[in-house]
Amino acid sequence: MSMSNVGRPTRPEASASSGFASLNGGRGLLQDEALIFELDGWDKTGVDIAPAGRDASDLGDLVRSAPIGLPGLSEPEAMRHYVRLSQKNHAIDLALYPLGSCTMKHNPRLNEKMARLPGFGDLHPLTPVAASQGALELMDRLAHWLKTLTGMPAIALSPKAGAHGELCGLLAIKAAHEAKGQGHRRTVLVPTSAHGTNPATAAFVGYSVTEIAQTEDGRVDLADLKAKLSSDVAAIMVTNPNTCGLFERDILEISRLTHAAGAYFYCDGANFNAIVGRVRPGDLGVDAMHINLHKTFSTPHGGGGPGAGPVVLSEALAPYAPAPWVVAGKDGFKLVEDVTEEAAQAFGRMVAFQGQMGMFVRAYAYMLSHGSDGLRQVAEDAVLNANYIKARLSAEMTPAFPDGPCMHEALFDDSWLEGTDVATLDFAKAMIDEGFHPMTMYFPLVVHGAMLIEPTETESKQELDRFCDALLALARAAKSGNDADRFKGAPHLAPLRRLDETQAARKPKLTWKSPTNTVAPTPLAAE
Ligand SMILES: *Cc1c(COP(=O)(O)O)cnc(C)c1O
Repeated sequence: MSMSNVGRPTRPEASASSGFASLNGGRGLLQDEALIFELDGWDKTGVDIAPAGRDASDLGDLVRSAPIGLPGLSEPEAMRHYVRLSQKNHAIDLALYPLGSCTMKHNPRLNEKMARLPGFGDLHPLTPVAASQGALELMDRLAHWLKTLTGMPAIALSPKAGAHGELCGLLAIKAAHEAKGQGHRRTVLVPTSAHGTNPATAAFVGYSVTEIAQTEDGRVDLADLKAKLSSDVAAIMVTNPNTCGLFERDILEISRLTHAAGAYFYCDGANFNAIVGRVRPGDLGVDAMHINLHKTFSTPHGGGGPGAGPVVLSEALAPYAPAPWVVAGKDGFKLVEDVTEEAAQAFGRMVAFQGQMGMFVRAYAYMLSHGSDGLRQVAEDAVLNANYIKARLSAEMTPAFPDGPCMHEALFDDSWLEGTDVATLDFAKAMIDEGFHPMTMYFPLVVHGAMLIEPTETESKQELDRFCDALLALARAAKSGNDADRFKGAPHLAPLRRLDETQAARKPKLTWKSPTNTVAPTPLAAE
């Protein structure tokens, strides 16, 4: 594989399956694409700008002495560069995106249209309250419906992601314990199947994390929970439905035991899509729960953001909710921003302004377009789709928890690959050659070689069948033992093949240095 001057792989290898590679790295009608800085020279621009007057500068020593180094592209070149890059992206608008735990559902265009209304889209976060009444009203209504759907009395809208919401919830819990003279509590209990953000958040807040074991059937082990609850425990963090795609049947008992031990119950609500409109977490004794608007309420979550993770809070935690929040009064809506007076107990604030306004608009548009019956059907269809996949794929693959239905995601282990040379990773990479994005792999950690598939409600039976047919054919090829190269070398047809993902995550190359940029600086004339 060839590398750019910063070690970024740029050219595909010859395809192992056909032995054929183009001379210039293109494939089909897709051209290979370099970094924008590597595309052309430095001496042109897509717009005509009048030459700068050589007036004296006020900048003194701060005058730039080297060229600014912007890539020199014409408008069509710049357009083509970004369109080519966009064609290399996999997106929910291109195909089913079966990542388990991520709830990659369709983002309706109506939401986008609403978010771009100038009154919302162009609103500056420092606009005075009197001139942002409509936006504040929308936030108030969104807050109302999120509280109604969860059966919880209070909400903090501002956290910007699920993990940020976890931080918000644990900070509220910490503040509540401190207010009760219980600040000595140092431990947070987290089940072994938890999403990595749960223990990470607890550690970030300064708690030590103790794992709770899981039963054979994939649920929290109550005996282990009882053994680990003590006067040192500040909170338990449980995901429901959990990351094995299973409803925690003992959730009421978990909440009772937690409260009896003087601890709070944090529920990771990332999987709310499976129960929205059917179960209210408030009725289960939850004290704090984040809601990923970018999962359940169909706002986009490309490239890690911008998401939104509002947190609903119980009566006990409500006083500690972070500023700001919206209050409806007879003179309109106001924003409680300072941590004084009615917000005196607030633990502080999570963000500089009010949160992700664009996401609030999208989520609210989604709620209104579905209505309450539609939101309930979201959960029902999501669960139905996952069970359809579980049932069909069980013909060749082994479900991790075969007994009973799953919730919104179907979890398989790798025991069906035993005796073959194919591992979960090889199977997932081979899916790319079939035109499907891989499922979540090796998570949850409690299941060996886990493959976690979440179709969401937005896939039709026809799409699900195309997906299942492809996976079943691949599974048969894997088991046949005669097709090892298909898996070991996969993906054969992607522009780039197996990259060093660990290095890419740990040591990302984020800067680019010109090897050739020798354009002479043109300093402004000094006075
Ligand atoms: C997605 C997810 C999170 C984290 O949410 P982000 O918005 O990605 O920070 C936490 N827990 C579970 C179970 C999740 O699926």
